Amino acid sequence: MLARRSLLRRGAARVVFVVISLALTACQSASLPSFTAAPITPSMKSEQQSLKTASLTIVPSPVAPSPTPAPSTTPTVAPTPVPSPTTKPTAIVVDFSKVHPNELGVIPIMEYHLIGDADARWSRSWQHFRGDLERLYQAGYRTVPLQDVIDDRIDVPAGYSPVVLTFDDSSPGQFTLVEQNGKLVPDPHCAVGILDAFYREHRDFGEHATFFVLPAADPPHNLFGQDQYQKQKLDYLVAHGMEIGNHTYWHQNLSEVGDAEVKRQIGQAVQVIDTLVPGYDVDLFALPQSGAGPVTRSRRVRRARTTTDSGDSGAAQPLVQRDGSQSELPALRQRR
Ligand SMILES: [Zn+2]
Repeated sequence: MLARRSLLRRGAARVVFVVISLALTACQSASLPSFTAAPITPSMKSEQQSLKTASLTIVPSPVAPSPTPAPSTTPTVAPTPVPSPTTKPTAIVVDFSKVHPNELGVIPIMEYHLIGDADARWSRSWQHFRGDLERLYQAGYRTVPLQDVIDDRIDVPAGYSPVVLTFDDSSPGQFTLVEQNGKLVPDPHCAVGILDAFYREHRDFGEHATFFVLPAADPPHNLFGQDQYQKQKLDYLVAHGMEIGNHTYWHQNLSEVGDAEVKRQIGQAVQVIDTLVPGYDVDLFALPQSGAGPVTRSRRVRRARTTTDSGDSGAAQPLVQRDGSQSELPALRQRR
């Protein structure tokens, strides 16, 4: 059983980077991505044959669909819930003839930028964003953390498909706090507020999303604006099972600067996040502007991570690499 589950996970791991290249296309068209099957190698065909003939008993991980608590109504965030060590997983038998799993399929990674009042090249209206969630839910998708995809431990119920939600550039439309009855709560029209509301109505959808933030960009892109609430917002994301990713210090195109600046852009962003959320591991990185020279840039990033991660021996770190053919929000192209 364990060997079979490991096999399933390996199959899933192969598709990750294929999907990442689809993400920008999805963003640019402001619609859901089209899904293209990953190339099938002879070894993968062999695995497919095994899957067709095997029966499987899956023991759900106790950390999967975690009963994330209802959103806090105050800026003081409760600790992230930890699965009870006494939880005993219940064994279920999956009938492949009914659920038709495709372990070699691709996983959509939605890449949002601005959430606002209208659709535009880099903007999704909050109404349509809410509609995207509904469409994904009705199509059988369930959110998973990006880190789980990278770590090859995707866990969704049998018969459902994983989807990853990501947000770049930490703009107010993604997360704004407003006062309500004397308490600070997410604006119901910002992405986090919409995610909260949708999750309350559809608990099995999960509330996983990854926010690639800019600690030192010009306002309002400096950690979603609202300087006085930066810590509360990052605490809120972590407490609700969402992820904080590094998008450089102020959206610097890393292909345009030398190694020292690359290190500074990555390292200082981590420093700020660590100051606001002590102990949070920033293991996800998204390149800003997706400019030219992806090979050179990737080497610079990997070298920088090796030297800036204190106590790190230089082991490989997850790197989110997106399509290098288009740049992002030009307003954030700046030097300081
Ligand atoms: Zn960006």
